[in-house]
Amino acid sequence: MRLIVVSNRLPLTAVQKDGEIIFQESVGGLVTGISAYLNSTQNGPDAEKMDYIWIGWPGINVSGKEKKEEFKKRTLNEYKCHPVFISDKVMDKFYNGFCNKTIWPLFHYFPTYTAYDMETWKQYQSVNESFCEAIMEVAEPNDLIWIHDYQLMTLPKMVRKKLPNVKIGYFHHIPFPAFEMFRLLPRAWGEDILEGLLGADLIGFHTHTYTNYFLTNVLRISGYEHDMGQIIMDNRVVKADTFPMGIDFDKFNNAGKKSEVLEEKRNFENTFGKKKVIVSIDRLDYSKGVINRLKAFEIFLDKNPIWREKVVMVIVVVPSRVGVESYQLMKRQIDEFVGKINGNYGNITWTPIIYQYKYLSFAPLLALYNVSDAILVTPLRDGMNLVAKEYVASRYDKTGMLILSEMAGAAEELGEAIIINPNDLFALADAIKQAIEMPMEEQIRRNTILQKRLARYNVEKWATDFIHSLHEVREEQIRFEVKRLVDSARVQLIEDFKIAKKRVIFSDYDGTLTAIVRSPELAAPNAEILEIIKRLSEQEATDFFIVSGRDKEFLQKHLGHLNISFIAEHGVWLKDKTDTEWKMIQPISTDWKHKLLPLFELYTDRLPGSFVEEKDFSIAWHYRKAEAESAPAYAQALFDSLNTHYTKYDLQVLSGSKVIEVRSASVNKGNAIVNYLGKKEYDFILTMGDDWTDEDMFRVLPEEAYSIKVGIIPSLGKYNVHTYNEIVELLNELSLV
Ligand code: UDP
Repeated sequence: MRLIVVSNRLPLTAVQKDGEIIFQESVGGLVTGISAYLNSTQNGPDAEKMDYIWIGWPGINVSGKEKKEEFKKRTLNEYKCHPVFISDKVMDKFYNGFCNKTIWPLFHYFPTYTAYDMETWKQYQSVNESFCEAIMEVAEPNDLIWIHDYQLMTLPKMVRKKLPNVKIGYFHHIPFPAFEMFRLLPRAWGEDILEGLLGADLIGFHTHTYTNYFLTNVLRISGYEHDMGQIIMDNRVVKADTFPMGIDFDKFNNAGKKSEVLEEKRNFENTFGKKKVIVSIDRLDYSKGVINRLKAFEIFLDKNPIWREKVVMVIVVVPSRVGVESYQLMKRQIDEFVGKINGNYGNITWTPIIYQYKYLSFAPLLALYNVSDAILVTPLRDGMNLVAKEYVASRYDKTGMLILSEMAGAAEELGEAIIINPNDLFALADAIKQAIEMPMEEQIRRNTILQKRLARYNVEKWATDFIHSLHEVREEQIRFEVKRLVDSARVQLIEDFKIAKKRVIFSDYDGTLTAIVRSPELAAPNAEILEIIKRLSEQEATDFFIVSGRDKEFLQKHLGHLNISFIAEHGVWLKDKTDTEWKMIQPISTDWKHKLLPLFELYTDRLPGSFVEEKDFSIAWHYRKAEAESAPAYAQALFDSLNTHYTKYDLQVLSGSKVIEVRSASVNKGNAIVNYLGKKEYDFILTMGDDWTDEDMFRVLPEEAYSIKVGIIPSLGKYNVHTYNEIVELLNELSLV
C-alpha cells in the first residue's frame, strides 16, 4: 500500500540560485505527523507497511518539457515529491485570489474582507484540476490518497471521478463556518465545494464544532442527512469526523535541554534580566488578533502601574502573504501601535514591547518559548493553533502560562489554560496579570494535565487515527456494497420464482411500491403498479400481500379492488384475499392513546409543517414537510421522551422514514406475517420494504427467503436496491413469468 499526500505546498521549496535550482526542505507539523505515522507502519505486518509520495506546488514554475521532466526526476528520487507546475499568473489568482481573499477570510468569519470574484473561482477549479492531473500521473488503484486543506476542496470529487474505487481522505485545517457564513458564497460555489469534499470517503476536522457545521451545511445546501457523521449519499457512505491535530510532543519537550536552545536562552536572559516576559508569536494575519493583544497590553500597563518596568512583551510577527493589501495595512497598524505604546510608557532603560517582524528558526523559537513567563495566543479565529500546543509541550519544567483564545480550535482541548474572549480587552488585560502572578504550584498543576493530554494525542496518533478511520469507512462501504441486488442474484431470484410451485410476496407499500411523497394522503398507486400487482394476483401459484403501516381505509380505497391480501397498521388488521371483511389479528388495548396524544400535539406546535396522524391502534407524527434542519432534532427529542416515559404501556416507538410512530409492542409486521409463513408450504418467499418497520419482516424469514431493502442502508434484508423503481421493474418481470 502507498500513501499519496496532497497539499498545496510540497514540504520543500525550489529556488533559483545562480541559474541553478536548489531545494530547501521545510519540516512543518504535517510532515512530522505523516513521517511518524509512516515509521509506525514499518514495525507492523508487511501488508500494512507503507511507502509514500507527496504531491504539491514546489514554489516555482519551470518552463520547457525537458526541464520539467528533469525537475520531477530529482524531486521524486531525492525527496519522494511530485511537483504540480502552475504558472505564476494562475498561482496568483488561485492562491492570493480565491484561497486568501475568499475562503480564508470567510471561513475565519471576516465577511467584510471577503471578495467574490468569478475569475478567481474559475482559477481555483482549474488549479484543482491540475492537481488531479498530477495525481493521475502517479496514482494506482490501491493507493490511499490524503488531500489537505482549503486550497483543494474541489479536488476529492475530481479524483473520485477518475478513480472511483480509490480511498480518499480529506483533512480541513482551518475552521469550517456555520451555515449563516457559508451561505454568503454564491450558491453554485458553495454546492461545488461541498460536493467536491463529499468525493472523499472521510472528511476530517479539528473540532466537533467544525464537523457539525460542515454536516449542517451539507444538509441545508446539498440535502444529505447524516447519522452520527455518516452521510448516506445516493450510492456511497461518506464520513465526517473530528481529529484534533497534535504536535510532536517529545521533540518539543526534549528540545529545551539541547545546547543550541540553551545558548539562545542565555542570550535572552541577559537581555531581559529579571523582568517578566510575555511572548506573542504568529504569522501576520488579521485572524490572529495581534492588534487586540497590543491594546490589551496597553490597558494592562495603564491599570497596573506597579508592573511597569518589570515586564516586557516580545512580539514576533512572521511575514506572510506579502502581496495581499489587507496584510500590508495590518503590518502598518502593528508598527504604529508598538511605537505608540513604547513612546507612551517606555523610557531610556525600559522598552515595554520588543517587536520583531521575522521568521524564527527552531532554536530561537524554543528558547523564546522557554524563557518566557506567559504566552498570549489570542486569535480572533483559528482552525487549531499549534503555537499554543508547542508552548505547553516545550515547558519541560511545567511552568509558564498559556493565555488562549476561546476562538482557537485548540481551546476545545486545552481547558486548563487561561481561556479568554479576544474581543474582551479588559478580560485580556486581567488575564496577563493573572498569568504573571500565578503561583508556581498552580502553573505546574495546570501544565501537568495539559502535557499529559498533548503527549497522548500527539501528531502521530492524529495521523494514525485518521488513516485507521479511512480504512473503517471503506469497510463499512463494502458491507453496503456487497448486499446490492447485482445482476447475477437478480437472475437467480427470477429463476427461483419461475420454478417454484407455491410463492408468496410480502411487500411494504410507501417507498417500496411507490415513491415517498410529502403528504401520506398523496401516495395513491399509479396505473403501472396496479397493473403489475393485478397480473401477479392472477398467477395461481402466487400469493401477494401488502404489509403496510397505513390504515385499512386507505388500503381498501386504493387497492381494495385487487384480489390480494392486506395487513394494515403494521399488523393490527388483516384481510386475506379470501375474506370480505377486515379482522383484527389479535386484541389490542388503546387506553394509552389519549394519554400520549397531547405530547404529539406539543411537538406539532413546536415544529411547523409536522402533523399527527391518529390511527385505530397507533399514533404517527410525520415531519417530512417540516423545515429540514431542525426537524431531526425535534424528532429525536420526541423519540427520546416517548421511550423514557411510556415503556409502562408496553408500547413500541418506531422511527421510520420522516415519521415517529407509537403502537402496541406486540404489533409488528413480522408477527403479522409469521403465521402465514408456517401455514402454507411456500417454496419461494420474497419480502420487500424500505424502512425500520420492515426489518421485523426480514427478521422472521427462513434462511432461503429473499428479502430486499429499498435504499443503500444497513439492513437485515439480504439485498439492497437504490429506489422503489427497481422493485417495480422486478415485480413487472415476475408478473410476466
Ligand atoms: N513558527 C516558526 N517560526 C516562527 C513562528 C512560527 O517555526 O517564527 C511555526 C510554529 O512553530 C508553528 C507554525 O509555525 O508550528 C504556526 O502554526 P499555527 O497553527 O500556530 O498557525 P498558522 O500559521 O498555521 O495559522
